Amino acid sequence: MFDLMKDHQLQELHCFQQGKLNAMVAIHSTKLGPALGGCRFVSYKDFDQAAFDAVRLAQGMSYKAALANVQHGGGKAVIMLPDGEFDRQALFESFGECVNTLGGRYITAMDSGTSVEDMDWIKNKTDFVASHSEIGNPSPYTAEGVFQSIKLTLEEELNTPMEKATVAIQGLGNVGYALMEKLIDAGSTLIVSDPDKEKTRKVINEHGVFIAPVSELLIEPCDVLAPCGLGGVITPAIVPQLNCKAIAGCANNQLLNEEAGYLLHKREILYAPDFVINSGGLIYASGQYNQLSKEQIQVNLDKLIQTLSRVYSASHDKNIPTDKVAIAMAQERIEAFGVDQ
Ligand code: NAD
Repeated sequence: MFDLMKDHQLQELHCFQQGKLNAMVAIHSTKLGPALGGCRFVSYKDFDQAAFDAVRLAQGMSYKAALANVQHGGGKAVIMLPDGEFDRQALFESFGECVNTLGGRYITAMDSGTSVEDMDWIKNKTDFVASHSEIGNPSPYTAEGVFQSIKLTLEEELNTPMEKATVAIQGLGNVGYALMEKLIDAGSTLIVSDPDKEKTRKVINEHGVFIAPVSELLIEPCDVLAPCGLGGVITPAIVPQLNCKAIAGCANNQLLNEEAGYLLHKREILYAPDFVINSGGLIYASGQYNQLSKEQIQVNLDKLIQTLSRVYSASHDKNIPTDKVAIAMAQERIEAFGVDQ
């Protein structure tokens, strides 16, 4: 466990066990401010798998916050989905008590498997929570940031107008579905997939777009591939099979490892780093939490595209993979503006 923390430069890892609650809070850094990051509620095979997820995601949140210009460090929580029946409200209230013991060093929010209602239950026990019902679901802001990033990638980098582009979306959840609707409005051709049959049925009925089998979506011919389901889908093994010109989606930690980023660069598949383009929700949630004005939140949302543009330019100029460029930019900002807290 300490090796994992060291490899990811993690500051703190807290474990909580109370009745059916098995949870972890990973705080990667508080140098730019209190760590802010979602709470994931999914099934994990064991403790090690959950810890790996929490630690990697917390590191990504530090980079995301640094590049999004928000005064927060990176953190993430995972709650392991319990076996059998459980009282959901009691579980999330119990988690709220755990978050409260950290005294504000970590602020929790929605993530895969959690809802605004879950955040309200957490709020019954702590004030250190964003994306509860007074703030709302941040996903539409994430979708807008990813949409603008795809637009920039197509128009500025691939010389392809939106209405002539084909985009393949993996995952039709909160973000993927909203992204699909924006792309349809912009005139793009869509290929989508999701293992959830109800979601694909809805898409066929309402929009009539092409549904690809889950096992084939990643290798469908398209201009932009948008991973919006799970992380780790871009593996060194899949890169040679890809049929896209760029990758730009909302899923956290899309690259399985550094090698995958290097192979994409070598194949000249442009990768829009996930933690650069999926920060819309973080910008919105942190802005609301810190009571920023609508105008200030909008300024930070607009900067997201400028940051992506700078990442692309530096990658072209220095001939280094975009993910490496973006990590270096984030680390530089944390070092320049961060203070030990
Ligand atoms: P979600 O849980 O609402 O949706 C995920 C969707 O992906 C589900 O419909 C699921 O069935 C589908 N899926 C799972 N495996 C798949 C596969 N192999 N192929 C195709 N589809 C698959 O989650 P979300 O809130 O839309 O977030 C999606 C991703 O984006 C997550 O990785 C999340 O951490 C990340 N993210 C979300 C936000 C946000 O604001 N919601 C912000 C930043 C990052």
